[in-house]
Amino acid sequence: MTREMMTPQAEPPHSVGAAASDAACETPGVINGAALSDHAIGGVRPPWRLVDMHCHPDQLANGDEVARDAERLGIALFCTTVSPADALEARERFNAAPNVFVGVGLHPWWLADGRCDESDIESAARLAATSRLIGEVGLDFNGARAETAALQERGLSAILQSCAKHPLPGRVLSLHAGKAAGRVLDLLEECNIPARCSCVFHWFSGTSDELARARHVSCLFSVNERMLASKRGREYARQIPLERLLIETDAPRTFGQRSSAAALGSSLERTLDTLAGIRPESRDRIADQAAALGMDLLSP
Ligand SMILES: [Zn+2]
Repeated sequence: MTREMMTPQAEPPHSVGAAASDAACETPGVINGAALSDHAIGGVRPPWRLVDMHCHPDQLANGDEVARDAERLGIALFCTTVSPADALEARERFNAAPNVFVGVGLHPWWLADGRCDESDIESAARLAATSRLIGEVGLDFNGARAETAALQERGLSAILQSCAKHPLPGRVLSLHAGKAAGRVLDLLEECNIPARCSCVFHWFSGTSDELARARHVSCLFSVNERMLASKRGREYARQIPLERLLIETDAPRTFGQRSSAAALGSSLERTLDTLAGIRPESRDRIADQAAALGMDLLSP
């Protein structure tokens, strides 16, 4: 798919200016309350140098240490969770960390293998109603997981319907789609979510047509170094408009591991290096834009 074949873009609902103007409507304390109210004081924002738009610091053995060091290094983290119970735990754990923003999640793998069930769908939908940040949610139809497609779709739909019924300004979703980007887009569109929320596809791996469709409804994309290791991933990252491009680590690779803020930072830097090699903009421009957009999404 060439650039020329792409459908013209609709005006994104989440341009930097639009997100900032929503700030007045934000209800401080709804999620990550301490962090949001801190950000609001005098309109001063910490200068996050790097914004990791999809990672799992709550699944690190030393997540607290990583969060603290990340703050010192100027790294903000969108902590995407895999279950509603984890979301509540992570909110508590990172409540005092101004650089960690916790999303309400229900990962499709957890539904597929039975670690989460119908009661978690209910809890996630209930929590989503009052939460501005949602993730990790989505669908994964790879291999045997496809057998649980109906359950996964029920889970995602319940969360999206809850978001639609309880609109909040500046809501952001971090979306997982494994061989299911088209279905994720179907369900998003059924609830008119792309028009009301910032929908961020994490590690997009769908088809070119699905990428075009996601772009057409103003989705955003967070890319990581493993996505950029494949030719197709690099081609997608080249085609994504700069104002929709975010970076992420999706760390840790194995839950329960130890890591460091420096390791997360290096991964983000390598992602920026690769992006600068395949895109027309300078590395600084890509880095600044990704950080500014990430900040606007996490702390509008
Ligand atoms: Zn993830």
